[in-house]
Amino acid sequence: MFDQTSFLPTKELKDFRDRIHRIAKDQIALQATLVDEEEFFNREVESVLWEHGLLTLTFPERYGGYGKGRTTALCIAVEEIAKVCASSALLLIIQAVGSFPIIHGGSRKLKQKYLPQMSQGRKLVAYLVTEPTAGSDIASIQTTAVRDGNEYVLNGSKCFATSGGVAGIYSVLAKTSEEKRNGDSSFFLVERESSGLSIGRTESKLGQRGSNTTEVFLDNVRVPAENLLGREGEGFLIAMKDFDMSRPTIAAQALGIAEGAFEAILEFIKNSHTLKKSVSDHPAIQAFLADSAILIEASRGLTYRAAILHDQGKSNTKFASMAKCFAGDAAMKITTDAVDVIQVLNGYGFLKNFQVERMFRDAKLTQIFEGTNQIQRLVVTRQILKESMSFDQS
Ligand SMILES: Cc1cc2nc3c(=O)[nH]c(=O)nc-3n(C[C@H](O)[C@H](O)[C@H](O)COP(=O)(O)OP(=O)(O)OC[C@H]3O[C@@H](n4cnc5c(N)ncnc54)[C@H](O)[C@@H]3O)c2cc1C
Repeated sequence: MFDQTSFLPTKELKDFRDRIHRIAKDQIALQATLVDEEEFFNREVESVLWEHGLLTLTFPERYGGYGKGRTTALCIAVEEIAKVCASSALLLIIQAVGSFPIIHGGSRKLKQKYLPQMSQGRKLVAYLVTEPTAGSDIASIQTTAVRDGNEYVLNGSKCFATSGGVAGIYSVLAKTSEEKRNGDSSFFLVERESSGLSIGRTESKLGQRGSNTTEVFLDNVRVPAENLLGREGEGFLIAMKDFDMSRPTIAAQALGIAEGAFEAILEFIKNSHTLKKSVSDHPAIQAFLADSAILIEASRGLTYRAAILHDQGKSNTKFASMAKCFAGDAAMKITTDAVDVIQVLNGYGFLKNFQVERMFRDAKLTQIFEGTNQIQRLVVTRQILKESMSFDQS
């Protein structure tokens, strides 16, 4: 029904999509309602993801990575899994986001020590950037890292940490100088067992309730100086580069949620004898199917354009933000309309026993994290102005 493969650059990626589609359908879909209703982190699904190498896709190949086309592969896996369970797809995303500073900032020695622990030792990683007073404005973080001999001492409070309570390793952003500028923060690798690290409240959420979201506190946590990721002051830059990889994956998650809702409505229509015959008499259904299909294909175009550019090593900041913003808003509209369609047809749209109700709640987060959609619009505007100025000067 949808063109999911013709634009993919290699046959391997097309086959990869088929493989993940089967894993999602056979091993993840059935768990989705349970993790949502009982709001727990499902270790069974985590095991499935490890077994199939889906939590190391963006790692160097010798540590279980996908190799060429890894951002596209991650988007494919996230999209296919989000069609059936957005919470499970989020685990893939945060594993890639959290390990990015280690893969791209860690010394060879550090990577040799920690990447096998993660890939073979099956350690999850969390990404600790957001704080109670610093979300969109990363430069406002208060967490500090002060050098003391061969160590850094970290102090601060982090919130909204996805996988915060289930991770074994943390990529932590902290200020390494007193001034409030983008060049004054740095990433550090912190182990779960570190003295002074504690997990706070586990959040109860509207959607993606099978993901674990917690506060994490750092109270005089000492880490070896070699756990600095990148050079001192490079934290903001690493975070921005991480966004170029992560925003297409959030777009892929939104795309998957939207497709899941679309397919649920299509099944509903196909299973209703009267509806099947009389779709043309229902303008609401016609509008839903046509408008949603258009939004889905447009989201796919932006998402994979951003991912493929990233894999090619080309600048993708504008497309990454466009994709995340467009696909997130599209998923919100499609899932809202899907609830409406069921409500109009049989009055049950608002009830929990229809998957689209969960998808409607899950879609909301795609408009918020990895930079809200308001922030994505700012990024797109800035990129357009930058391009137009360099065009004027050429
Ligand atoms: C479930 C969940 C999981 C998350 N997981 C993680 C994680 O693993 N790691 C992590 O570090 N963070 C995580 N986050 C944090 C997330 O990235 C932030 O919530 C997000 O960046 C927004 O920050 P904020 O909530 O502090 O909102 P604020 O930055 O306080 O913004 C509040 C509102 O103002 C708007 N706004 C702010 N600045 C501007 C501006 N300049 N122009 C226009 N509008 C503006 C925003 O769009 C937003 O609507 C998670 C959040 C949630 C909800």
